[in-house]
Amino acid sequence: MPRPIQAIIHHHSLQHNLAIARKTIASDSQLFAVVKANAYGHGIENVYPAFKTADGFALLDIDEAIRLRELGWEKDILLLEGLFTEDDLVQCINHNLKFTVHSDHQLAWLTAYSGPAQFNIFLKMNSGMNRLGFKPKAYQEAWHALSKLPHIQSITHMMHFSDADGERLGQDGTTYQMNLFQEVIKDLPGKCSLSNSAALLRHQHDVTSDYIRAGILLYGSSPDYPKHSAKDWQLKPGMSLRTEIIAIQEIQENDSVGYGSQYIAKEFMKIGVVACGYADGYQRISPSGTPILVNGKRTQLIGRVSMDMLAVDLTHIENADIGSEVVLWGQSSCGALLSIDEVAEKSNTLGYELMCGVTARVPFYIDKA
Ligand SMILES: *Cc1c(COP(=O)(O)O)cnc(C)c1O
Repeated sequence: MPRPIQAIIHHHSLQHNLAIARKTIASDSQLFAVVKANAYGHGIENVYPAFKTADGFALLDIDEAIRLRELGWEKDILLLEGLFTEDDLVQCINHNLKFTVHSDHQLAWLTAYSGPAQFNIFLKMNSGMNRLGFKPKAYQEAWHALSKLPHIQSITHMMHFSDADGERLGQDGTTYQMNLFQEVIKDLPGKCSLSNSAALLRHQHDVTSDYIRAGILLYGSSPDYPKHSAKDWQLKPGMSLRTEIIAIQEIQENDSVGYGSQYIAKEFMKIGVVACGYADGYQRISPSGTPILVNGKRTQLIGRVSMDMLAVDLTHIENADIGSEVVLWGQSSCGALLSIDEVAEKSNTLGYELMCGVTARVPFYIDKA
């Protein structure tokens, strides 16, 4: 028997989340599913059947784009960081990829092209996040330069929000970038691509975007937790990390659990030893008290997480035994939910990082039921 740990990918929940995104966007907007980082750790091949009603896919790695083409995807694919080398242009031609242009280097590679191919590019403005893109004046110059090139078929205006999940300096977090963006492109024709999940859910009426780049919401994590939970946005978990109890210990007052004796019992406790550790992607930093489901009932992590195991409090869980189901995040087989956002918050991180961090030794299964 393999170790009991599994990551379950919930086909219908992914479809449901895509439908929520579809319902939220304007009917003439295109919905691009962001599947970078191997579909936020879910596996491109695992999510593809659920997301193939999207209008396009967005990601960073050409290898991942090729995997989508091999699955039969013929519609749009956008490379969010564009070309990493000049040779990538050949791959974009061969696999019919749209790509971002965010730097002078990329602009030079594209300008130097002299073959017969036509490119649809997304020109990225640095509207304040100061990560990728051209600042306003350089943006306008780049736009004019590109629009004169015979091999450029279309230029979509693109930017990325730094604070769409909340506020910035006492103002709504999208305002400072939106104002600048609108000002810079006001005399430049072309479609726009702005919204990520947070902008899509929180600003559906004031941020309009021809190409929506939806990531995290599709996987069932809230982009602005704890202001809104996944349930508030009607999202369902795309992934469940499930395993089992492999040993049970009964401990008394002043007994400790795990490395460093980080947890000292105050009274009698029944402890379950769980087949999941930081080598599976459960964060070592997660403190005692982080919620866990056993047999669909909520309980909590006890003591330090080790490489292959962690301990859970079973004192008040009836019928817990060797082989009982443990859910680290997601959904139990009886339907109880434990939001990845809640687990992430306890560990000072985001659902994004937890879902991307499930390691290669964990087998993935698709739940189509
Ligand atoms: C990752 C990414 C997105 C998706 O963001 P979510 O918050 O997951 O919706 C959108 N646009 C760009 C440029 C990205 O890198």
